[in-house]
Amino acid sequence: MTAVPSIPLNNGRTIPQLGFGTYQVDPSETVEAVTRALEIGYRHIDTAQMYGNEKEVGEAVRASGLPRDDVYLTSKLNNGFHRPDDARRAFDGTLAALGVDQIDLFLIHWPLPTLYDGDYVSTWKVLEEFAADGRARSVGVSNFQVAHLERLAAECDVVPAVNQIEVHPYFTNETVRAYDREHGIATEAWSPIAQGAVLDDPAVTRIAERVGRTPAQVVLRWHVQRGDIVFPKSVTPSRMQENFAIFDVELSDDDVRALAALDKGEEGRTGPNPDVFDHVPR
Ligand code: NDP
Repeated sequence: MTAVPSIPLNNGRTIPQLGFGTYQVDPSETVEAVTRALEIGYRHIDTAQMYGNEKEVGEAVRASGLPRDDVYLTSKLNNGFHRPDDARRAFDGTLAALGVDQIDLFLIHWPLPTLYDGDYVSTWKVLEEFAADGRARSVGVSNFQVAHLERLAAECDVVPAVNQIEVHPYFTNETVRAYDREHGIATEAWSPIAQGAVLDDPAVTRIAERVGRTPAQVVLRWHVQRGDIVFPKSVTPSRMQENFAIFDVELSDDDVRALAALDKGEEGRTGPNPDVFDHVPR
């Protein structure tokens, strides 16, 4: 098994560059899927309060018998809990659901700039508390645009360790990636294969045929060579295996550029624009 590289974070910690995503993994399927992922060798699981499967992620990790520190766990604050006291209660709930004393990484899931009087700053200050008391080994954000990150930089002490944003060849999100890079924030690329939408693109399939890999492997490898962190989701064991086998192939600089050139700008998004997204799950 080829080892998954670690990416250094701005607080001296590290994160496995490849993980397993659990968005849209039904709670009834989560124990089985995460168990299989851990058997394959994944050691980084990305969940969220919003996904409704933290408890099952925790169950699978415990049942694996792996030492707690061998599995990197990320979760995210749900959109209804941005007020400080709600955020504190929700974070307690995440630790309880996962069955851990410390989480490796905890994120604000969405900035929600049109809700809470545009105040994601006091929410971030609560995440700083979790880092200070050690219950979150690292804290970060998700779906933060440059303006949101600039505001945290101006008004807060801790620089987010990561920014988890939509990135794939149809939406390279270059402006936010560049800000992250220049400010020591690691970029995590969500929907790394655009939920499958990029896999039939002729530019992808051509490279895949030439290097003898699948389209998904080529696209995931592209992310890794650009330095981003990825956690593809699959409940299909053969795909989980396929997505893990990306560390013994190398794309040329031309291939990396050719895939980045597929960028469609805003039209390429599969998810909502964080500047206007305001969904609060009930
Ligand atoms: P992905 O880009 O990982 O794509 C998942 C889809 O692609 C599933 O339908 C899966 O099908 C299919 N698939 C997976 N592997 C392959 C393969 N090798 N070949 C063909 N099809 C494949 O999408 P996600 O949106 O799930 O993103 C990944 C993770 O990012 C999430 O699970 C979540 O952890 C995180 N995320 C975070 C967000 C945020 O706002 N912070 C938003 C969205 C995602 P099947 O399962 O049937 O095999």
